[in-house]
Amino acid sequence: MNYAFTPARAPTVAIAGDDALFPVHRIYCVGRNYAAHAREMGAEPEREPPFFFTKPADAVVASGSAIPYPPATENFHHEIELVVGLGEGGAAIDEAKALDCVFGYGVGIDLTRRDLQLAAREKGRPWDTGKAFDRSAPIAPLHRVQEVGHPAAGAIWLAVNGEVRQKGDIGDLIWNVAEVIAVLSRQFELRPGDLIFTGTPAGVGPLVAGDEVTGGIEGLSEIAVVIV
Ligand code: MN
Repeated sequence: MNYAFTPARAPTVAIAGDDALFPVHRIYCVGRNYAAHAREMGAEPEREPPFFFTKPADAVVASGSAIPYPPATENFHHEIELVVGLGEGGAAIDEAKALDCVFGYGVGIDLTRRDLQLAAREKGRPWDTGKAFDRSAPIAPLHRVQEVGHPAAGAIWLAVNGEVRQKGDIGDLIWNVAEVIAVLSRQFELRPGDLIFTGTPAGVGPLVAGDEVTGGIEGLSEIAVVIV
């Protein structure tokens, strides 16, 4: 292949206990998938169909990284989330077969420029500036399904400088992983390497430079990043 200049390297996520890397194709995110968080964002958590936004694949950041406080915001928020990595794709996937597409699970943080997201929401504009910025998707190593199965319940938490800010249970997802894959695959053709951030529990809040952010989900590797 004769490229005009060297293409960027494929973004990757680590796999727990494996030297191989998970090559990222796309990043999809579910909005408002825990009732208490939907309420804190001023929405009514009806079981309306899930809605999605995206981040660029190269927004991924490895756990253990230092993340510079991003530009253009004065309200930079953390959202701890269960992340699903797909090993197979497809279109219009049956809910009953959806989990067969899952490669593994990990802990991620949907970093958000909340001021820009809310301004966009108010004006009916796209969320990209609030959600899809550089280094907005730190992810801990993925655990293969063969190792952890399909976690359907268990504590999810995030702490800032050791103080717990978010606490929930992934069993409280309004739309579970199989349902999310089934609905998402009717809007986009899913591919191996797709990541899905499944939504955050209540307790989102601001980060400042110097904050040490840690988070976890029962049974999965913890995530740790520092804001600089
Ligand atoms: Mn989120």
